[in-house]
Amino acid sequence: MAVLVISSPVTESNSPLIERQRMDVDIVCVGFGPATAGFLTTLSKQLVNTDGTPAVESATTPGMPPQIVCYERAADIGFGVSGVVTKARALRAMFPDLDRAQIPMSAPVSEEKVLYLLDPIGASRRSATLRVADAMIRAFKWALPVEHDALNLPWTPSFLHKDGGLILSMGQFMQWVGAQVQSTGTVQIWPGTPVSQALIEQNKVVGVRLLDQGVDKKGKPADGFTPGMDIHAALTVVADGPVGPIGQQLDAHFGMPDGHHTRDWAVGMKFVVDLPEDTPLKPGTVLHTFGFPEPEIFGFFYVHPDRVASLGIFVPSWFDSPMRTAYRQLQHWMLHPYLWRYLKGGKLRSWGAKTLGESGRRGEPHLVGDGYARVGEGSGSTNVLTGSGVDEAWATGTQLAEAVLELLKAKKPFTKQNLDEAYVKRRRASWVEKEAIVAEKSRDGFQKGVVRGMLGMALAGLTNGRLSLSDDPVPPWKRIPSIEEYYQGRVSPEEIARLHAECQARNSSLHGALMEKAGWPVIPYDGQLLMSHQDALLMGGKVQAPAGYADHVEFLNPELCEKCGAKICIEACSGQAITLGNDGVPNFDREKCVHCGACIWNCTRPLPDNPERTNIAFHAGTGGLHSAEN
Ligand SMILES: Cc1cc2nc3c(=O)[nH]c(=O)nc-3n(C[C@H](O)[C@H](O)[C@H](O)COP(=O)(O)OP(=O)(O)OC[C@H]3O[C@@H](n4cnc5c(N)ncnc54)[C@H](O)[C@@H]3O)c2cc1C
Ligand code: SF4
Ligand code: SF4
Repeated sequence: MAVLVISSPVTESNSPLIERQRMDVDIVCVGFGPATAGFLTTLSKQLVNTDGTPAVESATTPGMPPQIVCYERAADIGFGVSGVVTKARALRAMFPDLDRAQIPMSAPVSEEKVLYLLDPIGASRRSATLRVADAMIRAFKWALPVEHDALNLPWTPSFLHKDGGLILSMGQFMQWVGAQVQSTGTVQIWPGTPVSQALIEQNKVVGVRLLDQGVDKKGKPADGFTPGMDIHAALTVVADGPVGPIGQQLDAHFGMPDGHHTRDWAVGMKFVVDLPEDTPLKPGTVLHTFGFPEPEIFGFFYVHPDRVASLGIFVPSWFDSPMRTAYRQLQHWMLHPYLWRYLKGGKLRSWGAKTLGESGRRGEPHLVGDGYARVGEGSGSTNVLTGSGVDEAWATGTQLAEAVLELLKAKKPFTKQNLDEAYVKRRRASWVEKEAIVAEKSRDGFQKGVVRGMLGMALAGLTNGRLSLSDDPVPPWKRIPSIEEYYQGRVSPEEIARLHAECQARNSSLHGALMEKAGWPVIPYDGQLLMSHQDALLMGGKVQAPAGYADHVEFLNPELCEKCGAKICIEACSGQAITLGNDGVPNFDREKCVHCGACIWNCTRPLPDNPERTNIAFHAGTGGLHSAEN
């Protein structure tokens, strides 16, 4: 694909020495997740007529179809993290003759169970209501579908079902779609190329800037300095997911619509596992769990063909515990007797972690503006009632593509008004919007506990959103208790101080020692499935970062870190990339970062001038997971 390169350098007013190349295209996309996949699949099929002539013409390269480039941060297509079980409505609409056999690791959903996991250890923190419920379940287990300390819910509402749907691997699926899109020859996808910022001129987005290479940790030019190119485009499609730096930049610049916020989220961590040879689990099996290791932690277990399973947990923002370490909690979850009987003898193939945006429609930013449009989870598309994000993200991408084709054919510019009329109207009229309205307040009950949360979900789901148990979501930094408060009556402040000092001397995180003190068993590492966090990180070189880039995690106000006692950013880091530093300010090691975004949400100090954000900034960065199995 020909692109026009303007050789005149761009000189920045604040950095007169930096000269940047400029390239002009018609459309630039940030991120290649399901949302962009839906966008590019729809668009790429309709840019060229059957006789090879352009169906619509490029403004930058006359006589050619529109020049479309997509930049993806991760080192390759499909290095993202997701479940995935999906009803696949949008996917099936796009590929009516979908041959599932072409997508490795895919399976039709064959069986679904929702399980309430009892606590066989007695170490979790359960409310009085849950303790009574647990006692009743144990007392009547002869009459209930209870096995291996788990109650198989005899009935679940239909809105939770994925029957007729598909189990996929996000990585394998995205690689398959990427190949389909690129084979049309009308779109370029560039992995390993993070976008560092949107270029905004007088409130109009005019394109993006790519990340500088050959810089030190602070971003200062060093050996081999190559300034990131400026890509100018009539339309910038922002699809960088729930923790995308470009989405965050636009939110900071344009603000959020009244009453909207992104306070609700969960960190999802998953393992991809080879199940034992004699596994009784059939491909297509879907298990969802709640209740253990803590009542607030939800789990998923999906079985792919060839004895491979994707399994993991979500640690939600409303989990009022400073012990928010997904890796450790995941190991206790796997060791629950109901699950361990399936997992024992299994082998870890791959793992990953990522934020799931759980604000849903309330997390919706301004969807369009002059020169830009937002799609996917970063645009608030994820359905928080059904826990479904892939299909919705894809559908919003498709809606934008249809809008773009309409505007291109009518030779209308990508103004806020035109995008509103073509894209936002389509989105508002679609099933994504209708279901998002039902889901909008469905999870609010969790603000005051799991039982209330489950009731709220059932109420909203069964009444089509007309009723809900509403509570205003609270920013996480306001609700995470101190370690001393959390362990009151279980571990004394003196013991906590002693363990803290011991862990500091070893430069290790505190959560393992504290959880063990509070009754959690030591993890019986087997080197196959249960292994230390470090070993998992080093496994097969699946977490990497190329040299020559700036640190993408930044501690904004070091003085806030100095005064911060709990330092939950260290405890919660999914990649052990944040460790104790000198003077109380943590260290960040890019080579271990899996780009999950847990640190931005888990930091307990708000920014003095913006209480919706914390003391950690998450910039564009390279590296992270190197696995297309997740
Ligand atoms: C553990 C887990 C399990 C899940 N399970 C399910 C499930 O079972 N079913 C379901 O439907 N949904 C599930 N979801 C949610 C689902 O994965 C998301 O809703 C979906 O991936 C959103 O798609 P997206 O395209 O909007 O964003 P993403 O998938 O987040 O894609 C965004 C892309 O942008 C890239 N990017 C970010 N910043 C930049 C930058 N600066 N420059 C260039 N590229 C950038 C990222 O690397 C990424 O590839 C799960 C999520 C998690 C974390
Ligand atoms: S980043 Fe946040 S949680 Fe971490 S030490 Fe600083 S203030 Fe504390
Ligand atoms: S430093 Fe990286 S791995 Fe650790 S929590 Fe933050 S984004 Fe996740």
